[in-house]
Amino acid sequence: MIDHSISRFDDDARCRLIDGHMAELRQRYPYQFAQEMLDFMLDPEPGWLAIISTLCRDVDALIPVEVRPQFQWTQIMEKFGTLRASWSLGPQFFDSLSSGGVLSGGLPRERPAAYEPIWAAIDQRIAAATAESAKTCGECGALGILRDLHELRTLCDRHADLV
Ligand SMILES: [Zn+2]
Repeated sequence: MIDHSISRFDDDARCRLIDGHMAELRQRYPYQFAQEMLDFMLDPEPGWLAIISTLCRDVDALIPVEVRPQFQWTQIMEKFGTLRASWSLGPQFFDSLSSGGVLSGGLPRERPAAYEPIWAAIDQRIAAATAESAKTCGECGALGILRDLHELRTLCDRHADLV
């Protein structure tokens, strides 16, 4: 968990923390990060870095070496207050805004059927990480809830006035 005495990261410290962490993951699982991503596509909340590390580790354990080249992250970012992690053969996410709020979904992509049980297990593991982010403060990693302030963010009580 991140030091609670820091009420909010300045932007530089925040970037250094996230970039350093992602660089470490990139080094540990190079095949997962083989695809070029724009900066904003690789921009998770600092409080979720532990969730993302565990996710990368578990994905690594799920994928046989021979199919590694088929897996690359295409997005690891915050979207509408929760983690959005998408990958090369995973669902293609879409969002639409309506009076009832945000409707999000995923369209399945064509993928080699022989490995479907593995792909499905990966999708399930990612969905679990997203669910975890919805109860984890994006600032510090403490228990949080999804809060609708000026924007949606998942935050603990201490950080609830940040937005
Ligand atoms: Zn917090």
